[in-house]
Amino acid sequence: MQIEIRGLRKVYAGGIVAIDNLDLTIPPGVFGLLGPNGSGKTTLMRILATLLDPTEGQVTVDGLEVRRGRAAIRSMLGYMPQEFGFYPTLTAYETLDYFALLCRMADPEQRRKRIDESLQQVNLTQYADRRVGTFSGGMKQRLGIAQALLNDPRVLIVDEPTSGLDPEERIRLRSLIAELAAGRIVILSTHIVSDVEMAAERLAILRNGKLLFAGHVSEILAPLAGRTWIIDIEDDELSRVREDHFVTGVFRAATGMQVRTIADEMPHPRGRQAAPTLDDAYVSAMQQTVSPVDAE
Ligand code: ADP
Repeated sequence: MQIEIRGLRKVYAGGIVAIDNLDLTIPPGVFGLLGPNGSGKTTLMRILATLLDPTEGQVTVDGLEVRRGRAAIRSMLGYMPQEFGFYPTLTAYETLDYFALLCRMADPEQRRKRIDESLQQVNLTQYADRRVGTFSGGMKQRLGIAQALLNDPRVLIVDEPTSGLDPEERIRLRSLIAELAAGRIVILSTHIVSDVEMAAERLAILRNGKLLFAGHVSEILAPLAGRTWIIDIEDDELSRVREDHFVTGVFRAATGMQVRTIADEMPHPRGRQAAPTLDDAYVSAMQQTVSPVDAE
């Protein structure tokens, strides 16, 4: 079971190139799709979910081509879009029943079983009879995932699941996503680096529809090992340090201000080595210049 993307290109009306010559293989497990707004994440997910056709290229899900195998792919896929409209007056159970009917689950017994299982998987069983209008942001997101799990999908796609959540809800949702990856492909699309760091084994980084990196999280961190530094600085040194060093983050610690930087050698008398984080790697990847061929 895997998703294969070869030479994918998506051009919207008006000539906007949203995905540009993308090659990517997505194996089972949590796969983070990371990139700033406008980098093409939603376009890619909608193509995988067979909601949008590619302009060029080949995309297969478990060997089925997205244009020809639409019905078969949809039957094995769950998609949680960034925005979904729930009726506030329906209960969680009624909401899922409505979606299950839309998915043509006609048999009431089978429907009840799948709804109960989905509610259980996202830890909402005890709120089954509560109106969705009273749910917190995190509970609504979990209900969105329950909706995507109704057909017990082998591929689950979640778009920006943690945006707008408070830190505790965010942590719960990341753990849930990691749990759901057993035996499935879970694609987690986000611009929040820590979501990927906490939940994903592999990731792809997109910028302007192009792939900057694809691979295991450890592979993107490896080149930064021994080259990541923390420098303790005074507040008034920040702009000078920024001029002289490639800064991946600025923090205020109990002892004062700190910057993180990437350098081959000890960059500063007050520098010390640090373990690289995905944030360091992401900021560095975003900094990559576009090669002359790409820039044409
Ligand atoms: P992301 O999900 O990473 O924010 P999107 O896939 O939504 O990125 O967008 C990628 C690019 O395609 C952006 O430049 C966006 O403005 C453009 N785009 C997205 N949807 C459409 C559309 N329906 N018509 C035209 N351009 C679009």
